[in-house]
Amino acid sequence: MNKQANTHTEIVDNNKHFAIVGAGIVGICCALELQELGCRVTFFDHQGFANGCSHGNAGHFATEQVFQLADPAILPQIPKMLLDPLGPIVLKSGYLLKALPWFAKFISNMRSKRFQHNHQALQSLNKDAIEYYRSLLAKAHASHLLQIRGSLLVYENTPLALI
Ligand SMILES: Cc1cc2nc3c(=O)[nH]c(=O)nc-3n(C[C@H](O)[C@H](O)[C@H](O)COP(=O)(O)OP(=O)(O)OC[C@H]3O[C@@H](n4cnc5c(N)ncnc54)[C@H](O)[C@@H]3O)c2cc1C
Repeated sequence: MNKQANTHTEIVDNNKHFAIVGAGIVGICCALELQELGCRVTFFDHQGFANGCSHGNAGHFATEQVFQLADPAILPQIPKMLLDPLGPIVLKSGYLLKALPWFAKFISNMRSKRFQHNHQALQSLNKDAIEYYRSLLAKAHASHLLQIRGSLLVYENTPLALI
């Protein structure tokens, strides 16, 4: 990541003031990287800092879990998900038409070639994540929060295409 940051130095004017929409872990990491380059950053988030998914998750740095959502294995489950008001996909009535282009893109990403491409892209993002966190945590004097003890994944069945 530091190597990437150095590359960014060439293209990011450090007098710039950046707006970051979303103050979860992704937005915060982007902000820290920009601050390292000397840029100013302002967050926009109606929920405040880390109150979305980044709040109260399981705390496992799941760098080995490269499961993109656009997986053909979820297609048969989508109708059931849409009918469940507490399911992972909830669409307000009337929004379906507006969401159609997004769904079309989502489904097109399930094609074998795109699927492989996206898998590799996710894998390369995850690859150095722990090392990146290590340096962030050291700067925040919070290295004790990262514990490397391995993990055990247990499945009743494996609907996901494990590559
Ligand atoms: C129950 C649960 C357990 C999990 N466990 C793990 C785990 O163990 N390991 C792991 O690696 N991952 C886990 N995850 C996933 C992980 O938490 C997320 O991938 C990660 O937090 C996503 O970070 P983010 O910054 O992209 O999103 P978020 O943390 O959700 O941040 C997005 C922010 O954007 C804001 N926002 C959205 N739209 C707008 C808008 N229009 N204007 C302004 N602000 C907006 C939201 O309010 C939110 O604060 C878990 C997720 C959940 C829900």
